[in-house]
Amino acid sequence: MKTVFVDVDTQIDFLYPAGALYVPGAEKLLPALEKLAHCAAERGIPVLSTVDAHAENDPEFRDWPPHCVAGTAGQQKPRNTLLGKRVTVPKEAAEYSIDGAQQIILETAAIDCFTNPNLLGLLARLDADRYVVYGVVTEYCVRCAAMGLLRTGKRVELVTDAVETLRQEDARRTYDEFTAAGGVLAAVGKITQE
Ligand SMILES: [Zn+2]
Repeated sequence: MKTVFVDVDTQIDFLYPAGALYVPGAEKLLPALEKLAHCAAERGIPVLSTVDAHAENDPEFRDWPPHCVAGTAGQQKPRNTLLGKRVTVPKEAAEYSIDGAQQIILETAAIDCFTNPNLLGLLARLDADRYVVYGVVTEYCVRCAAMGLLRTGKRVELVTDAVETLRQEDARRTYDEFTAAGGVLAAVGKITQE
């Protein structure tokens, strides 16, 4: 069974207290994120990392404080979530090669990573049987990624101790929606030890 890890928006602006759109408690995910990255590297599991990559004055900034502007430090991922061989897929339709890449950085400018026109083609190339999803924020970008992946008909696992939420009740509702649609809840320990 081919597994792909889907690492959602684990970027400095979200993860650290000094970040532009800090998710309270998210820095506590770092050991788990590191463990998952290490596990992927060791086993040759491809990692699809979505990243917010906004332009200045992006429409999304009407609803949220400006964050993850392309080219800023806050838009970067912490070093320990990066693997050696990476390729970046831009937010506009593009030609790209994932040959030899351990990590595919998929840029997005909206909460739903499926707004990137390259994503469905990329998933077809990755040809996974199973997706393991984690990152921030549970009820927004993680939810969109997990539900969209479920719609592809593949097994999707959501790593509940490697996600962070803004509101517990919204996270609980997301878990209910996800499991009702056939998703499976998982834990870092189980994913990295199996
Ligand atoms: Zn954003």
